[in-house]
Amino acid sequence: MKKTVILLFLIVGLFGCAPKKPAVIQTAPTAVTFDKFPVLEYHLIGRPEGRWQRTPENFKKDVEWLYANNYYPMNLRDILDGFGGVPAGKKPVIITFDDSTGGQFRYLPDGELDPDSAAGVLKRFHDQHPDWPLRATFFVLIETNDPEHNLFGQPDLAARKLRQLAEWGMEIGAHTYSHDRLDKISAAAARRSIGRELATLTKFVSRETVSLSLPEGKYPKDLSVLGGFKLVVEVAGGMNLVKFDPLHIKRIQAIDDEWRKYFGRHL
Ligand SMILES: [Zn+2]
Repeated sequence: MKKTVILLFLIVGLFGCAPKKPAVIQTAPTAVTFDKFPVLEYHLIGRPEGRWQRTPENFKKDVEWLYANNYYPMNLRDILDGFGGVPAGKKPVIITFDDSTGGQFRYLPDGELDPDSAAGVLKRFHDQHPDWPLRATFFVLIETNDPEHNLFGQPDLAARKLRQLAEWGMEIGAHTYSHDRLDKISAAAARRSIGRELATLTKFVSRETVSLSLPEGKYPKDLSVLGGFKLVVEVAGGMNLVKFDPLHIKRIQAIDDEWRKYFGRHL
């Protein structure tokens, strides 16, 4: 029997003052029928397959499997409007990428989108299946010691990529300026890292950055540092229930073991 699920989440006091009593915010009822939702986590896209690397071929199979199993891709920020727009009979899935490496989004020397990069796989799949929209959330880094991680590894093309992702309808999220462990630096340094990243992103992306992926999943001691974000993802944890904390969103690492464990998918 179909029933309408009302997506609930708790807003915890995070805005610089003493913790407030959690309030339950009720989003608009949707026609979506699900009791939990997955947020998938990818790092490197490339060869060979590894603990932190998914091959383009396996990533494509993941998308095909999700499509065949009635999942519908959304951005993380779509949580804020209760996953509005998910067609009847479909379930939301959020695909996320951390660390903005070239394998996630690369242009070839001739200027074409690399079909083996994650963006290339998603674009081609969308072209073949227009009912699978271009949605995913990319948690990017601006400047690190490893140039491959700085806004997808091609400095001259960074602005073009950010604008292209936004134009396609994808979401850009924050991952701090330099992959800074927020538990290891002062609150002032953490605010600086986040502030510098957001200032850089606003040059290229007009939409407000509402989502953060914590480097290594580590929370700052002073949670008011996160006050500018509405959604914060962790590095693990499994499925999210419809009643969840938006500042502690669980993720599933898209590796064979976790596909088996959380989706019963045998690879
Ligand atoms: Zn990271």
